[in-house]
Amino acid sequence: MSFQSLGLCAELLSAIATQGYTTPTPIQTQAIPVVFAGLDLLAGAQTGTGKTAAFALPIVQMLSATTPTKKRRNPRALILVPTRELAAQISEHMQNYGRRLSLRSTMIYGGVNIQAQIERLHRGIDIVVATPGRLLDHAARGTIKLSEIQFLVLDEADRMLDLGFIDEILKVAEYLPQERQSLLFSATYSQTIKQLADELLKNPKQIQV
Ligand code: AMP
Repeated sequence: MSFQSLGLCAELLSAIATQGYTTPTPIQTQAIPVVFAGLDLLAGAQTGTGKTAAFALPIVQMLSATTPTKKRRNPRALILVPTRELAAQISEHMQNYGRRLSLRSTMIYGGVNIQAQIERLHRGIDIVVATPGRLLDHAARGTIKLSEIQFLVLDEADRMLDLGFIDEILKVAEYLPQERQSLLFSATYSQTIKQLADELLKNPKQIQV
């Protein structure tokens, strides 16, 4: 299996080559076709498996097919993560892939002044990588509009639950359109993860690496 045969476009193949990736990892081989097929996904994958590229690449490619020309646009992809560190890592991937296809990505997390985030959001964004608490703050203030989200990713969902983010996640979900594609990644499965998946995913494909 090659990245090319997964159906990735030339711009992304070039980004992947620059990163030094030659062969897709198992999670990438399995998840990328599911995302391209428009299906929800419940994936069991640890950190270090290449899960970031597994969701970032197909989402960026699918978004790029319909990027609005207006500057002030609302986000169409939302990646929820447990920590600022993970937000930074994912954001780096999104920036790297997205800029080749004229997509804008930003990071939203708590513990820092909110004003700069508000200004960045106001200028127009395609992809938001966020921790749940601060995102909910923006949603409640109306400084982010989540009604045009097409892709929801819950990354390291088990860690988000461990950190007590369940209520925030469910509240964020109330701002999202029903019709969307949702992907959940978790290193472990528990009853609570299953309940969260039941709540947020529709007939998900399940993969385990
Ligand atoms: P992740 O699980 O997304 O945090 O990725 C773990 C590490 O593997 C990161 O350093 C990635 O840059 C790297 N990586 C992801 N996909 C590949 C690949 N196909 N080939 C080589 N390295 C990869």
